[in-house]
Amino acid sequence: MSTTGTATLSQELVDEFNPFLAMAKRFEIAADYLGLDPGLREVLRTPNRELSVAVPVLMDDKTLKVFTGYRVQHNFVLGPCKGGIRFAPDVNLDEVRALSAWMTWKCSVVGLPFGGGKGGVICDPREMSQGELERLTRRYTASIMDILGPDRDVPAPDMNTNAQTMAWIMDTYSMHVRSTQTAVVTGKPLALGGSLGRHEATGRGVMISAREALKRLGRRAEDTKVVVQGSGNVGGIGALLMHREGYTITSLSDMYGAIHNPKGLDVPKVLEYLAENKKLTGFPDAEAVPNEVQLELPCDVLIPAATENTITSKNVAKIQAKLIVEGANGPTSFPADRVLDERGVMVVPDILANAGGVTVSYFEWVQDRMGYFWTEEVVNSRLEQIMVKSFDQVDETAKKHNTSLRIASYIRAIGRVAEAYKLRGAFA
Ligand code: GLU
Repeated sequence: MSTTGTATLSQELVDEFNPFLAMAKRFEIAADYLGLDPGLREVLRTPNRELSVAVPVLMDDKTLKVFTGYRVQHNFVLGPCKGGIRFAPDVNLDEVRALSAWMTWKCSVVGLPFGGGKGGVICDPREMSQGELERLTRRYTASIMDILGPDRDVPAPDMNTNAQTMAWIMDTYSMHVRSTQTAVVTGKPLALGGSLGRHEATGRGVMISAREALKRLGRRAEDTKVVVQGSGNVGGIGALLMHREGYTITSLSDMYGAIHNPKGLDVPKVLEYLAENKKLTGFPDAEAVPNEVQLELPCDVLIPAATENTITSKNVAKIQAKLIVEGANGPTSFPADRVLDERGVMVVPDILANAGGVTVSYFEWVQDRMGYFWTEEVVNSRLEQIMVKSFDQVDETAKKHNTSLRIASYIRAIGRVAEAYKLRGAFA
C-alpha cells in the first residue's frame, strides 16, 4: 500500500480509527492461521442483525427529544447474544458493530455458551437527570425488546450505564412479558438477582491477566510499577485490586486529566477523593499530568481502561511499558499493534484481559435461571479458574504459532465459533 500523498495518509488514519476495520484485520490474520474458507469467513465476520431505533423521550422541561439507539447481534452460534449497552455522545454504528463482534470473540475465548451483541444510545448522560435517563432507558428497551430475552440476547452495563440502568431494563422487559425475568440482563443490583462479585469482575479479571503475564516475564508485584488509564469500573477497581496485591500504581486518570506519583498512589484514598470531587484533578500527593502524556510515563505495565483507540500510530513510539493489559475494548489500533509486536512488548488483548466482566455475567445468568445464588468466594474462585485456564490456552496457542497473544486469542475464539457453525450448518 502506498503511503505517499495526503489523500492516502488521511484515509489510513480514518481506517486506523475505525474499530470495525480494526477487528476485521485481526480476524483475517487469525482466519488465515485457521485456514478458513471464504464463505465461512464471511458468515463469521458479518453481524447477524443490526437494529437502529428512534427513542422519543419527554425531557424535564417538557420538550420531546428523539435519541438514536442501536443493538447489534453479531453472532449467536454458541448461544444467546451477550454484551453491554453504552450511553455516550460519540456512539456510532461502526463502533457498536465492532464491539458486538469483540463480544463474540470474548465469550468464545473464555469458553462461555454465548454469542456477541452490543448496544448503544447516542446521548450525553452527564447532561441528563435521573428521570430523563430512566425514561430513555425504558423506551429504548421497549423499542428493542423483540430481539431481547434470556434465551436470545442478554444486555449488561458498559460505558455510562450501571446496575440501576439494568434494573430499569429488567423491569421494562418484565412488565411487557407479564412475568419477572431477571435473566434478561446481567450486572443488576443484588436485590434483583444480581451476582456477588459482578461489580468487581472486570477489574479482577484485569488483575489476574496482569499477574499471569508478569509471571511469564519473571516479575514480582512488589517490583512492578503500573499506569492505569481510567478510574471507573474497570480501571479504578483493577487499580484497587492490584494495589492490594502489592503493585505500585503510579498513575490514574479520568476524562479531565491524569494524576501521577512515581512513588505510588494510595489508591483507596484516590478513589475516595474521586467519589467526593467527581474528578481526580487536585488530588494531593500527586502531580497533574495531561491525558496524552499519561500513556508515555515510565512504567512496567500500562493498563488502558478507558475507551477505544488510545494507543495508536501517533503515540505508540513513546510508550515505555513492557506489558500492556487492555482493560478497555479496542484501545490499541492495528498499526500500533505491529509496532508493539516488533518491539517485543507483550499485549494481553481486550477479548482476554477484560473478559472477567462477561464471565461473571454468565455466572449471574446461570444463578438467575437456577434461582440459586452462590457465595462471593465461589464466584471469585470460578472466575479465577476460567481466567487462568484461558490465559494458559492462549499462551500455548501463541507459542505454537509463534504469534502475539492477540492473534492467538482470535485464533482460539474464531476456531471455536467456526467449529460450532460447521456442526450446526447453514439453516436453509
Ligand atoms: N460491557 C462489558 C464488556 O464489554 C460486559 C458485557 C457483559 O457482561 O455482557 O465486556
